[in-house]
Amino acid sequence: MRLELTAEDQAFREEMRTFFTTEVPQELRDAVIEGRELGRAEFVQSQQILNAAGLAVPHWPEEWGGRGWSELRRHIWLEELQRAGVPAPLAFNANMIGPVLAQFASQEMKERFLPTTANLDIWWSQGFSEPDAGSDLASLRTTAVRDGDGWVVNGQKTWTTLGQYGDWIFTLVRTDPQAKKQAGISMLLIDMTSPGLEVRPIELIDGGHEVNEVWFTDVRVPGENLVGELNQGWTMAKFLLGNERVGVAPVGTVKRVLARAKELAGPQLEDPLVRARVAELENELLALELTAIRVAAHSAGAEPHPASSVLKLKGTELQQAVSELVLDLAGPASLASGAPDGPDGSDLPAWARRSAPTYLNLRKASIYGGSNEIQRQIIARTILGL
Ligand SMILES: Cc1cc2nc3c(=O)[nH]c(=O)nc-3n(C[C@H](O)[C@H](O)[C@H](O)COP(=O)(O)OP(=O)(O)OC[C@H]3O[C@@H](n4cnc5c(N)ncnc54)[C@H](O)[C@@H]3O)c2cc1C
Repeated sequence: MRLELTAEDQAFREEMRTFFTTEVPQELRDAVIEGRELGRAEFVQSQQILNAAGLAVPHWPEEWGGRGWSELRRHIWLEELQRAGVPAPLAFNANMIGPVLAQFASQEMKERFLPTTANLDIWWSQGFSEPDAGSDLASLRTTAVRDGDGWVVNGQKTWTTLGQYGDWIFTLVRTDPQAKKQAGISMLLIDMTSPGLEVRPIELIDGGHEVNEVWFTDVRVPGENLVGELNQGWTMAKFLLGNERVGVAPVGTVKRVLARAKELAGPQLEDPLVRARVAELENELLALELTAIRVAAHSAGAEPHPASSVLKLKGTELQQAVSELVLDLAGPASLASGAPDGPDGSDLPAWARRSAPTYLNLRKASIYGGSNEIQRQIIARTILGL
């Protein structure tokens, strides 16, 4: 098996590295590296720099801004982007609704939404999960009832990430309550300024405001906002969720954080237990990277390789383990979480003050994007044949 990159792919890696480290402002990348929460303007600025250079949606069809790269090049692009601390193109736009619209929407809808979605002129939210409809997504209860040319939507979505910034939300709604549960679902695009739509914050354990509930009370939606065919929402949901797992292994991010942890460890690295822990993480990371490259090299067409579940599972476990290492390196200083900078705040280093919130926040990684228990079931069924 060949594990080294060809000279051309190596040159491509250098090109990406140079672009990300010279064209995306240092302040933005520092915010990511320090684990600070980014605001809408920062995500938009970063994505627009990438999009202007054709680097925001390289995996889309070429007609809509894609680059026709191999899976391997897409992997290298993502890894270098993460290593440089560049905020990734907004997943809801770039990885979720964009590819769905390119595949299933009418030409009119594509023209209306795809360029603005790539450039983050429109910020999308994902309105799939509901109370009692997460892993068992097909149990969703939000309804859309025909009314003249349009729809009237009622119900509740939950865990809507960054919904406070959302302009539009792509939703799964029940359009045929009589049909078998997967068969009665449609996908609707809803303007989040519509009367009757309310976004309510959910406060998280790290003190941040990252997720929300979205409530719909008699929200009127024009008929033309239906994506694809009526009651075909489940097909689109499966397509979208399959894409969600692709590129999910945060190899570049984990590499960056682990390298930084070694710098931060300073004299603690002389402790053989700390050294052993770092060495184990580095080896696991290497194994993950090789697996990610193998999966990228063997992915055919639009179908995600079943091993992408292995990447989600191991990638998130490693991400959590590295955040735990940083927390332990900070030691008692990690208790200063939430202390502000400046003369009235703590004089402990920012990384130590951020270590506990970051550790706590990353517990989410094994839940979203299909929980790790569900990934294990996919691995058992499709890879191990159990
Ligand atoms: C931080 C965060 C952000 C999110 N952002 C969004 C978003 O923007 N938009 C959106 O639509 N959704 C979002 N989600 C929702 C996410 O997709 C769901 O949380 C996820 O699918 C799990 O569903 P659940 O929370 O209902 O848990 P449940 O499905 O109730 O699961 C609870 C536990 O039981 C386990 N479990 C469930 N079924 C099985 C089974 N069959 N076998 C074995 N174990 C099982 C699960 O793995 C989990 O550990 C987000 C979630 C989080 C945590």
